Parts: sequence; structure tokens; C-alpha cells
Amino acid sequence: MDDILLELEHAKKIGITGHIRPDGDCIGSCLSLYQYIKNNTNDSIVDVYLEYIPDNYNMLEGMNEINHDYQKEEEYDVFITLDCGSIDRIGKADKYFTKAKKTICIDHHISNQAFADVNHIVPDASSTCEILFGLMREEKINKSIAEALYTGIIYDTGVFKHSNTTEKTMNIAGKLICKGINFSKIIDESFYQKTYIQNQLLGRCLLESFLVLDKRCIITSVSRRDLEFYNATTKDLDGIIDQLRVTKGIQVAVFIHELDFREYKVSMRSNEIVNVSKIASFFGGGGHIKAAGFSMKGSLHDVINNVTRHIEAQLNNLEVTN
Ligand code: 5GP
Ligand code: MN
Ligand code: MN
Repeated sequence: MDDILLELEHAKKIGITGHIRPDGDCIGSCLSLYQYIKNNTNDSIVDVYLEYIPDNYNMLEGMNEINHDYQKEEEYDVFITLDCGSIDRIGKADKYFTKAKKTICIDHHISNQAFADVNHIVPDASSTCEILFGLMREEKINKSIAEALYTGIIYDTGVFKHSNTTEKTMNIAGKLICKGINFSKIIDESFYQKTYIQNQLLGRCLLESFLVLDKRCIITSVSRRDLEFYNATTKDLDGIIDQLRVTKGIQVAVFIHELDFREYKVSMRSNEIVNVSKIASFFGGGGHIKAAGFSMKGSLHDVINNVTRHIEAQLNNLEVTN
């Protein structure tokens, strides 16, 4: 795929989505592509669909134009999924994806199984925003598109500190800075700023965290009751896993939050040895080698037992036997 616009040349109705529980890369890629297509096509309809968005992305242009209710009945000529590693993470936008004449998947998850008609998957890319930069014509990237792309890159690289950051990532970030973006503000507001409640939840999760597997693995969890107590939602949980990961001596950090009765979302981060994407894929999820996740039904106890067994096996260089 040389150029996004070429793919969309004859498309009159274009739809865009990301993944459930949108994160910075998902939001940044959807908003940047949305603006890019809108600015460069004349009479095309472009719609973007995402679930709720955390407030700390409010500074991004196009935020108010996102459809959150999925009520519109539309058959798109082209429907694009961004940063979505598997079809079960598309959420309610599935109805547009299924009916679309042509589907395109642009993503960087190593676990992506190429579920669209056209698949552009670059596992080496730090973020979907990094891939999009390469697919856009640089002269057509304006300041607000640059802001959205930059937001995605800093989210997925943890502000250029994760091992997915490459020379190319830094060069792209440099080019985006040249578009006049206020990068300090973007980094502060979208990445570091926390509400009082978010900090309280972080504190609680750290207090309740525990070490297992010879202190090489740290685990913590949050229940729906905890969230209710703080009047918080799952979008207030960003960053907790990152704080766990930097615990000295840790190989793997695990953050578990209750989605529903006997249903949990598991986030994993690895520092060196363990391939957490492999574990997530085993349980029907996915992600990257050092950052992955999955959902699991059962008790919290079951979830912890299952996940630690796989981490232990990798730490000890053993296969899991069922
Ligand atoms: P997080 O732990 O931040 O939710 O996700 C870490 C990485 O794993 C992200 O790139 C995310 O897309 C991926 N991931 C998390 N949960 C799932 C899941 O349930 N299924 C798949 N396929 N990928 C997931
Ligand atoms: Mn994502
Ligand atoms: Mn991503």
C-alpha cells in the first residue's frame, strides 16, 4: 500500500474504527486518518466510530465528531480498522465491518491474524500512528494531524522509553515536531496528567500488589466494587500497569480488572525474558512481546493461577503441560 488515498480513490463512503476500550494509539490513529481523508477527498462521507474516550485526549481535533452510539445504518465502500489486533476487539463497529464492500486493517500487533480484505501489518512499528505516518504524504500532514499521530506514538512507546522505540520512531517524532505541535502539552495532558481519583486508584492498586514467582512477578487487581467506590470506570486505569512494571527486580507485571461477574481483563508487561504475547494468545488475546492482554472467565483466583503458571514456565524455560 503506497498511499492511503490511492486505496480510497473510488470510495464515496468511508468508515474508520479502532478497538474496544480505546487507548492513545487507537484514538490518535483514528483521528489522524479521519482528518487526513476528510482534508483530501471532496465528496466522500467519512465517519469514525469509537467507544468512550478518556478526557485527557480532549485537546485533539475532531474529538467531537467521533460517533459513540453506533446507531447510524450505513454500508461503507471502505471500512478501516486501526490498531485493532483481532476482529473480536472491534466491538460494536463489527456491524459496519461485516457489511462493508472492502475492509482494510492497519495495525502493528504481532498477533494480528490479518482479518480484513487488505491487511497492512507492521509488527516492528512502535505504533499504528507510526505506520500511518509512512502511509501519509508528509506535505499533507497538518498541525492537528501531527498532534494526533504524536499522541499515538508517545502512548505506545511510553514517551519513547519502551523497547519498541526505534531510530525511525524518533525521526518521525522529529518531523511531527516540525509541524509546530505543542509536544510538552500533549505529553503532559495525554500521558502524565492524572485526576485525583485516578491517583487514588493507582495508590490502592500499588498498596494491594503482591510478589510471586520468587519476586520476579508482581500482580494487582481491581474489582467493579472498587471502581464503584471511587466513582471510576475502566478508562481511569491507564498507567497502573506501567508503575507495576518498573518495580525493581520484576520480570513481569500483571494487572487484572474485573469486567463483569466472573470475567476479568488481564494486562501484562514484560521487562526482558518473558514473551507475554505468547501467553495472551494462548488465552485468546494478543498484543506485543512485551505488552499484551486477554480476557478470561472464572474467579480471580483462577485467573491468577492460570497466568502465573505460564509466566513461571517461561521464566524456568519450560513448556506448560495441561
Ligand atoms: P493493555 O494491557 O494495555 O490493555 O494491552 C496491551 C497490548 O495488548 C495492546 O497492544 C492491546 O492491543 C493488546 N491486547 C490487550 N488485550 C487484548 C485482548 O483481549 N485481545 C487482543 N487481541 N489483544 C489485546
Ligand atoms: Mn491500542
Ligand atoms: Mn498500538
